[in-house]
Amino acid sequence: MQLIEVSKEANLPTRFGVFKIRSFREKKKVGDEVYCLDHLVIKSEELPKNPLVRVHSECLTGDALQSLKCDCGSELEMALKKIAQEQGMVIYLRQEGRGIGLFNKVNAYALQDKGLDTIEANLELGFKEDERDYSVVKFIFDFYHLKQIRLLTNNPKKIEAFKQMVEIQREPIIIQCNQHNMRYLKVKKEKMGHLL
Ligand SMILES: [Zn+2]
Repeated sequence: MQLIEVSKEANLPTRFGVFKIRSFREKKKVGDEVYCLDHLVIKSEELPKNPLVRVHSECLTGDALQSLKCDCGSELEMALKKIAQEQGMVIYLRQEGRGIGLFNKVNAYALQDKGLDTIEANLELGFKEDERDYSVVKFIFDFYHLKQIRLLTNNPKKIEAFKQMVEIQREPIIIQCNQHNMRYLKVKKEKMGHLL
């Protein structure tokens, strides 16, 4: 079951520039319960034929708290800067902690404090290494009539998932290493095949 409700469009002035935002409410039925995920599109006023697109999964600790454990905060900042300059959109998906939710992510961080890496911690908690689901992205691409995009990513799984939906050119993301995210980035590169 996929039911998606679309909000009105509004202005969002930021320190990078003025964007347009629109929310896409995805209703997911799991067992008897229906969950609402309010995703967000942050875009430049105009979209070129081949816009820059970043599909970003929510990371409260990285995006809002500037955590150094992962690269989400810097990736988001870089993406917003680039779409302000070159025109495009950030599709902000509300799937925290690679889809396991904030509560479970904190438990995974506690396991990482004991020495497990990001994948081992998720597996220990009974999740897959990556629980993200990108089905709403197809709806968003169609909503904006996107046929070809420049996808800002280092993740080959995202390229695989989205090339079924639109024509893709990859734009790499370059992120600074620090002593806290070194292991996280190493796991991304060595265990998840990221192009770093
Ligand atoms: Zn993160």
